[in-house]
Amino acid sequence: MRLPFTCMQCAFGGDANSHPPYPKYVELRDDGRYEFTCENGHTTVTVLQEQKFEVLFDLGAYAILDGYYREAVASFTSSLERFYEFFIKAALFENDISEVTISNTWKQVSSQSERQLGAFIFLYLKCFSEQPSLLGQNQIKFRNEVIHKGKIPSRDEAIKYGQEVLDTIRPILHRVKSAFPQGVDKTVFEHLMNSRKADESQSVGTMSIGTIVSLNNGSGKEPSLEEALSEKRWWRDRW
Ligand SMILES: [Zn+2]
Repeated sequence: MRLPFTCMQCAFGGDANSHPPYPKYVELRDDGRYEFTCENGHTTVTVLQEQKFEVLFDLGAYAILDGYYREAVASFTSSLERFYEFFIKAALFENDISEVTISNTWKQVSSQSERQLGAFIFLYLKCFSEQPSLLGQNQIKFRNEVIHKGKIPSRDEAIKYGQEVLDTIRPILHRVKSAFPQGVDKTVFEHLMNSRKADESQSVGTMSIGTIVSLNNGSGKEPSLEEALSEKRWWRDRW
């Protein structure tokens, strides 16, 4: 999965009659920070606004398009885990707990996803007085077979799993956005600050991409995974 970047200096500062610059494709990065230099020597730094859970779900979708179904299952799983982290942070920020306290506490659970899941379940209960709807037992068993036992899933199995992850995230995401509006803003802000902090002196732009699971989805449309895949295939074939 690659992201298209266009040099804004060339696009807006150049000769009005010349052809607008073609986008350059850059590989996805873990830190969400993208630095590139165009052929005219302009350097641009851009940070990607999307949260890890949004990017990882799309990575899973691209893996399906490319025929890597085990990798798709692994990315969908990571997307769900990072979504639980997002929930926890947004809920805590909403209660005015500081970034330092949250990140120091997170270190106690950061390498064990089962601890994170436990934290999510009880924080959800505390916030909404009911237990969260989690991934079904069949899908958990399937995921463990794929990730820990080397099972090679079919395309249909990978899509079914991805769809269940999508159906698990979406209703909770709606709830997070309406229940923790300030917490969500703070989480997004901290994410951007963490991506850019190395270069305070440089001007840094932000970029947003349309993802299947989306914090900023204003359209109200929520396509199924299969529908989202046909749309992504259409775009990919034109790149
Ligand atoms: Zn340029």
